Formats: sequence, structure tokens, C-alpha cells
Amino acid sequence: MQKGSIGVTTENIFPVIKKFLYSDHEIFLRELVSNAVDATQKLKTLSSCGEYTGNLGDLKVNVSIDSEKGTLTVSDSGIGMTAEDIDKYINQIAFSGAEEFLNKYKDNANAIIGHFGLGFYSAFMVSKKVEIRSLSYKEGSKAVSWTCDGSPEYEMTEIDKTTRGTDIVLYIDDEEKEFLDKSRIENLLRKYCRFLPVPVVFGKEQEWKDGKYVDTENDKVINNVEPLWARKPSELKDEDYLKFYHEIQPGQDDPLFWIHLNVDYPFTLTGILYFPKIKNNFDINKNRIQLYCNQVFVTDSVEGVVPEFLMLLQGIIDSPDIPLNVSRSYLQSDSNVKKISTYITKKVSARLEEIAKNDSKNFEEKWNDIKIFIEYGMLTDEKFCESAMKFALLEDTDGKFFKLDEYKELVKSTQTDKDGNEVFLYATDKESQYTYIKAATDRGYNVLFMNGQLDPHFVGLLENKLEKCRLVRVDSDVIDNIIPSKDKKSVKLSTLQRNICTTLFKSQIPAIENSEFFIAFEAMSGNSQPIVITQSEYMRRMKEMAAMQPGMSFYGELPDSYNMTLNTEHSVVKSIMEKAESDLKSSIQPLEDKLAEIKKSISAINDKKKNDKELTADDKSELESKEKEAENTREEEKKIISDYASNLDKVKQLVDIALLGNGMLKGEALNNFLQRSISLL
Ligand code: ADP
Repeated sequence: MQKGSIGVTTENIFPVIKKFLYSDHEIFLRELVSNAVDATQKLKTLSSCGEYTGNLGDLKVNVSIDSEKGTLTVSDSGIGMTAEDIDKYINQIAFSGAEEFLNKYKDNANAIIGHFGLGFYSAFMVSKKVEIRSLSYKEGSKAVSWTCDGSPEYEMTEIDKTTRGTDIVLYIDDEEKEFLDKSRIENLLRKYCRFLPVPVVFGKEQEWKDGKYVDTENDKVINNVEPLWARKPSELKDEDYLKFYHEIQPGQDDPLFWIHLNVDYPFTLTGILYFPKIKNNFDINKNRIQLYCNQVFVTDSVEGVVPEFLMLLQGIIDSPDIPLNVSRSYLQSDSNVKKISTYITKKVSARLEEIAKNDSKNFEEKWNDIKIFIEYGMLTDEKFCESAMKFALLEDTDGKFFKLDEYKELVKSTQTDKDGNEVFLYATDKESQYTYIKAATDRGYNVLFMNGQLDPHFVGLLENKLEKCRLVRVDSDVIDNIIPSKDKKSVKLSTLQRNICTTLFKSQIPAIENSEFFIAFEAMSGNSQPIVITQSEYMRRMKEMAAMQPGMSFYGELPDSYNMTLNTEHSVVKSIMEKAESDLKSSIQPLEDKLAEIKKSISAINDKKKNDKELTADDKSELESKEKEAENTREEEKKIISDYASNLDKVKQLVDIALLGNGMLKGEALNNFLQRSISLL
């Protein structure tokens, strides 16, 4: 019998392992089963190159629980270990400065285990004693047992084990009894070992017999040894990809597209990524990509490995170059991981471009489902944006799809404004913006349909990326102003008419909470709407942003301001304006003249100030009284006009119709409108 000390520089490494690596205890199983699989693969390699000529037999890894003895055993019939091997690989834990290292990484079990070959020792996280029983494949080897109770001392003796390979027997700690629970172990095996390349057996398949489940003769194999991503894409059919998808994402609709990743230079990476069908916002759930390292499950939190926008995808990525440790800070500094991420982005855009080109009908049909991925990608990843500009689609209100450059070409001749900018019109709601859409399409303009969740941001992105192009929502102004043409008629109104009509209409707008209205005049065509309500693109965008970003509450708190634009060419508007002017001229004109006088005096005083002269006390009180007088005069004017307007059903009717068209006429105001409409009949 050999006794000795394990060669680590710390006094006693095991208490450290146990104490600090608490959060990830379960990974011991991954480590031990992976070691068993490695030993099996090594034997296969030796056999295929003729270095091992014995019978391979049934190469499986067996996991079993003996609840009486309180042990969990992982057995393989791989290459096994001689006493020298154990000395070399197990006794000499080959790293220096262990203590310092452990302190540094004490919160991250994976960092220690993955990077410093502590794999086997993770067994001590859950065991009070560990035994290795092994017989090497080498001819004439003697079977050996190694035991260690967690102190740095071990014992090694010869035993009579006649089958090739290794059993790792864990005497499970009293505090870790959960690892003697069959279903717990089965779940862990299914989590970590589901796609390992050697069959992993855990007990027997069961069947229903005489009112209960009983074991059959057949081994229960936990894993699929040849998962789809490890196979050649050329051998696979669509059905295979769909079947595999449902295996890894049970209970979901068919995916929209998939991408089979398969590279071996400059790094090794395989995997399959699926674009899921997202039915609603709540489906957006990150971390549905699983990371594997040589078919061993590592993690499903892939932040840092996969570009942010692709976290919405589902599937598997497998690379021996991804460190088992996937702590976020570590990953971000790992250059391999960065390369992988760039590669995945490239692959995804190449595949999308290919589908968009070769299968455009399919691409258009699925556009509304995938656009969230693509827009998100374009907004967050510069590189992806560059390539996506080639295949991203725009949809118009008739449901037609266009590539960006196609669309730019389409509207170039009709929708270029006088400054040479192309104006893309868009609507976010076909129903409520119907009148505006119609006004635009009647003119031969095209209107895009942008109702996606990310579209408010996407609009900004397009303006940034497309040269000489702006996007304007159809209801942001009257159509003549959105795309000003050279032969646009100008409004011919005198100051008096303008003043009278502004108050005339403004005074009849019912109070609407959090909204304010400005009256504007446009000489539209005679058959356009008499009155239109619009909200400026700028204001609306600011308010939308404010709603999404907490830092912009200034805009959020402002009332919604709208323009109520009167069509001065419309016959009804025209007649109202003309009549109002002639009815009110005699009372308003003198007030206007008075106002002009007051203004003159005010600006005379103000001129003094401009010339750097101090205002005398007299000047100041004069200024104050003039300003007061002006205000009173304006009030007087306002009162005369609103009293007049309050008897004009037509003005009220026009205002209400405009509000109604925007869904803004509610409650009492709506009721008043209905009553008035009936009485007008
Ligand atoms: P790593 O697997 O990262 O090298 P481990 O501590 O898990 O680190 O294992 C150390 C070494 O012990 C392995 O490299 C291997 O040579 C040997 N070993 C562990 N488990 C087995 C096994 N089941 N069969 C044969 N050799 C093993």
C-alpha cells in the first residue's frame, strides 16, 4: 500500500473547494461523466490507430446510485489508469499558487474547475470520501484503488478488478444527500450529458406492468450520441432540423429559419441557431441558446458569447474554444469568444441575405415575424446593420414589400421635396390614420406601414443610414406641408382675418386634458379636408422617446400639442371666414388699431433699452401700463370673437369633426356634437 500527500501548495485544498464552490456543486457530475467519456474516446482512438488491439466491448458510461451505502458511482470501460497514471494525473495537482488563485476566484467555481484541471477534484464538493478503482488498458497492468477522505492524504492499494476502465465511487456527504436522489441525478444527467458522444446509462428503462412501473432489461440511455449539429449539413433535411428543434424546445411552433454553423478555422465551432416564431412580447425570453463544449453542456446564459441581438434566437453552439468558465467578465476579455461572436453575426447575416435573395417570397411572408430580430440587430450592431441594409424590408400600407434601395428608387420621382430630400411617409395604424393615408395615396404617394415595437427607433436609424432621406408620419402635418411642392399655393389672409379666424376656431375647441391646440392656415386644394389635426413629427418622437427613457421626463410632462389646420381654399371655411370678417370688422378693427398704437409705444420704450440707456422710473411704469393695456385689449377682442363664435354651429361642427377624425372627441363634447348634428338636420 502506498500512502502519500497530494501535491498542492495549500495546506488543505478540500475545505476550500467545499466552502467556496457552494453555488455550483452539481457540476461535479458533469466533470466526472466528461472524464469517463474522454477515457472512452481515448481508447477508441488508440484502437483505431492500432495501439490497442484488445476487444473494445460495449463502450458505455454507467452512472449508478447505491442508497444503502450512500454512494454514487461513475464507471467507464475506457483506458483506465495504472498506479503511475494516478500518481501523475491525480496526486500531482499541477498548479502553483493555489491558495492565492482560489481566493481570487472563490466565487466562480467554473473558473477554477475549467481552467486548472480540477475536474476530478470537484467530486470532493459533495463527498466525504472518494475512491478510484481502475484497470488500465495497458497489457499486464494491475488494478488499483485510490482513496482519499478530503484531507491531503490518500491511500493507494492493489485490488482485483478484472474489467478494463475506471469506477469513481463517491461517498456522498451527509449534507449533500440530494445527490443520492434518483430523479435529481437523472435531471442533472439530462441537463449536462444530453448530447455526449458516448452512451451514458442510468438504470433501466421502465414499463407499466400490473399497476406499477417496473424495470425492463434495457439500459436507460440518457443521451443522444450524435446530435444534429455534429452531423454534416449536407446529410440533413428540413425534417431533421424541425425534429431537433422540437426536441430542444418542446411545445413551440415551428421555427421560421435556421442556420447550421460549421467551421473549423480559425476556431472550431458547430451549432444550429433557430429563429423562433415570437407570438407576443412575453415570448421574448433571452438565454435560449445553449452553450456546449465538445457536446458537454456548459451553460444557457450566453451573454458575451452571442451578440446581444441574437440572444433572441434558440439553439445550440458548441465549441471547444469556449472556456467552460462563462462568467461575464471573463468572457468579455476572451479574444476567442469575441471572434466567435463576430463570426456568428457574419454567418447569420449571410444566411438571411441568401434567403432574402433565393427565396424572397418565403422571406416576405415571414418578414413580420423576423423583423424584430433584424431591426434589433440593426439598432445594436453596427456590422450587422451594414449587411442587413441589403435585405431588410419595408412594407407599405397595401402589404407590399420593398428592399430599402428599391423603395428609395420607387418614391424618388414623386416624394422628393424642394430641398432634394426623399420623404418616406409612414403610418402606424391603418385604421385611425386612414384619412391621412388616403390623403397621401390620393396624391400618388406611397405610405409605409410601421407598427413594429422597434419601429420608432428604426425610423431614426433609417434616416441616419439612408442619404438625403427623412421619414414623416402621415398625420404629422397636412400633406402639402409634408412634401412641399414648388407650385404650392400660399395663404392669402390679412392680419385682421388671421387674428379673427384664429380666435374664432380656437375658442370653440372643447377642453381636452393634456392637450393644446394651435390654429394654422394652409391653402390646400378645394377638395381636401376643410380642417385637419396633426401632431408635429418632432414633438411626437420626443414624447415617444420620453415614454421609453426615464431621463427625458421634461418632454413627457409637456402637454400634447396639435396643429388644427384650416384649409383656406375650402368653400365652407372660406365662407365662414368671409362672413366673420364682415360681421366683426367694425368692432375688431378699432381694437386692432389701438393695439398697433400700444405696440408702437412699447417698442419706443424698448428701443431706449437697446441703446444701452437706463430706463427711468417713469419709463418703467409707462411700459408696465402699456403692456397691461395691450393685454386688456386682446382680452376684449377675444371676448367679442368668442361670443360671436359661440353662436356659430358651423365652426363648432368643423372643430368637432376634426377631433372626431382623430378619436379625440369624447364624453360631453361628443354628446354636444351629436345633439348639434341632429338639430342641424
Ligand atoms: P482534466 O480532465 O481537466 O485533465 P481532471 O482532474 O478531471 O482534469 O483529470 C485529470 C486526469 O486524470 C485526466 O486528464 C485523465 O488523465 C485522468 N482521469 C480522470 N478521470 C479518468 C477516467 N475516468 N479514466 C481515465 N483517466 C482519468
